[in-house]
Amino acid sequence: MAGGRRGRVGVMGGTFDPIHHGHLVAASEVQAFFDLDEVIFVPTGAPWQKAHRDVSPAEHRYLMTVIATAANPRFTVSRVDIDRGGPTYTLDTLRDLAAALPEAELFFITGADALAEIFTWRGAEALFEYAQFVGCTRPGYTMDDDVLAKIPGDRVTMLEIPALAISSTDCRERHRRGEPVWYLVPDGVVQYIGKHDLYAPKTTDRA
Ligand code: ATP
Ligand code: MG
Repeated sequence: MAGGRRGRVGVMGGTFDPIHHGHLVAASEVQAFFDLDEVIFVPTGAPWQKAHRDVSPAEHRYLMTVIATAANPRFTVSRVDIDRGGPTYTLDTLRDLAAALPEAELFFITGADALAEIFTWRGAEALFEYAQFVGCTRPGYTMDDDVLAKIPGDRVTMLEIPALAISSTDCRERHRRGEPVWYLVPDGVVQYIGKHDLYAPKTTDRA
């Protein structure tokens, strides 16, 4: 960590199925705004909110996240949620990272859609003990003021970031329909999706 000060570390949790430029711009903007030493991307193990759909194997999501972040010296990827096994709860993510980085000040980065749901997360009240929360603007979502008012004021910041109306769901659907995902996700991720035939039409979808 830089110059003896307590490290300032961003934590960007996500399913990253696939990682796209919306994630990368959010992480980069928060890194610059808070002068973070590092942003750790943490792909989920089994995301409990997405139990209703098939999520790509964790190793594919992990490798796409590594490919997408490799060129940025401040970006790293953690396997903590993947290796823990079972459904991923952000409280466990933050506890594990706080234990591994006891000196660090943690900033948990979310989009406005995810932050709006925060009180449905397990152990929501305790989350703010471990990290400051940063809610990034996201096209199509407005932050619920009632939710914002319930978060301790010194533990949350809303940050306006350049609008990118990109979602992993849309990337998967575009790929399934044979439409390009070039420039929505990093080039290496486009190639990885093709190489491993991720998001191919399901057999039942085929005529
Ligand atoms: P899905 O459509 O599968 O839910 P997603 O695009 O929402 O995928 P996630 O992996 O669910 O991506 O999101 C991880 C985090 O990144 C969440 O906090 C989410 O709000 C945030 N995020 C995702 N896309 C954007 C975007 N375009 N702008 C700002 N934040 C984003
Ligand atoms: Mg999402």
